[in-house]
Amino acid sequence: MDSTQTAELQTLCTIQSTLSNAGLDRKITQPNVIVLGAQSSGKSSVLEHIIGREFLPRGQGIVTRRPVIIQKIVDPNISKDQLSINDTPVNSYERLGQMLFESMEQAARSGDGITPEPVIVKVVLNTGVSLSLIDMPGLTKIALKGQSPEFPQLIENICRSYIQNPNSILLAVSPANVDVANSDALHLARQVDRTGDRTIGVFTKMDLIEDPNTIRKAFEGRAYTLKLGYFGVVCRSKKDMNNGVTLDQALAKEASFFAKDSFFRDFSSNLGIKNLSQRLSFHLLAKIRETLPFVKPSVQNMITQKQAYAKNFQKISDLYNTGSHHALIVSLVTMFTNSFQGVFQGGTLKNMKGILPKLTKSKK
Ligand code: GDP
Ligand code: MG
Repeated sequence: MDSTQTAELQTLCTIQSTLSNAGLDRKITQPNVIVLGAQSSGKSSVLEHIIGREFLPRGQGIVTRRPVIIQKIVDPNISKDQLSINDTPVNSYERLGQMLFESMEQAARSGDGITPEPVIVKVVLNTGVSLSLIDMPGLTKIALKGQSPEFPQLIENICRSYIQNPNSILLAVSPANVDVANSDALHLARQVDRTGDRTIGVFTKMDLIEDPNTIRKAFEGRAYTLKLGYFGVVCRSKKDMNNGVTLDQALAKEASFFAKDSFFRDFSSNLGIKNLSQRLSFHLLAKIRETLPFVKPSVQNMITQKQAYAKNFQKISDLYNTGSHHALIVSLVTMFTNSFQGVFQGGTLKNMKGILPKLTKSKK
């Protein structure tokens, strides 16, 4: 990756953080890579192998209770990794992991036990390829004890709200030992990307493959066609982790696993974390070049809308402060009527909700 590419990704990351701080990140269709899949399909493992560093919280059941935007920036000039979470610098991966865990606990205590509000982790290191990826909460089928019956639907809705972004690339993760026809990730991805233009299929746990032919069918585009294709990877199993296998050792193990079986030779460029990372970086940069020029006009548009709203609010507040109650009521009724009309055109009564409590509060 050359310095122009890194600079382009840096720009995207700055936009991501700024929009997220302003609570506008999902209103602007910025390019990104979204990791989608059933719980325990191997999403966090794939991410960890791609980033090359360990900090993602793991455990049994639901762990990822909010989307985690991971910005990996490669700067060959630095000697020590630089880490931050929501723009706050952190001095070790251990602390970063703890802070991420705390942000998940915070989401667990919230009303639904899960939230669409993302947390942003930035790691600057000196090897690999620059990428920005989003780890999503894992899809589930049934609510467990202590969870509300709508919990699986809530997770799906959060995922859908992210993957609807037409500029996102979807990394649909499915374990290789489950029939592709039963993949929750592909099922959901298909709903927003009907023609399979922006979905990459990733088979994890290739070491646990039961029927190589189903995988062959997918790779050859005979199962369900994805224009960006399929990749197969092997990450660390639970046993590997218990045995202290490092990420570097796991990458070497993955390479020798794919090299030893002739079945895999036909698809060698679509196997392994390294090939997947490079291809992802290529597609993400293409999306950035295609879409970033349009981000500025959409932000400008939003600013104009907010300024008009602020002007209206100023008018209401002036009328209130000067005691012009008659004019105030007329203005409020006009705003209400306009908002109400907006509802029929697909809007909400949000603007009115914002104004009324403020006025009643300031009266006390
Ligand atoms: P997530 O819930 O989708 O984020 O899944 P995780 O990444 O936490 O993985 C779930 C379990 O599958 C963990 O115990 C991993 O060690 C294991 N796992 C992940 N990838 C592989 C793989 O390629 N092979 C094997 N054998 N196990 C894997
Ligand atoms: Mg996970």
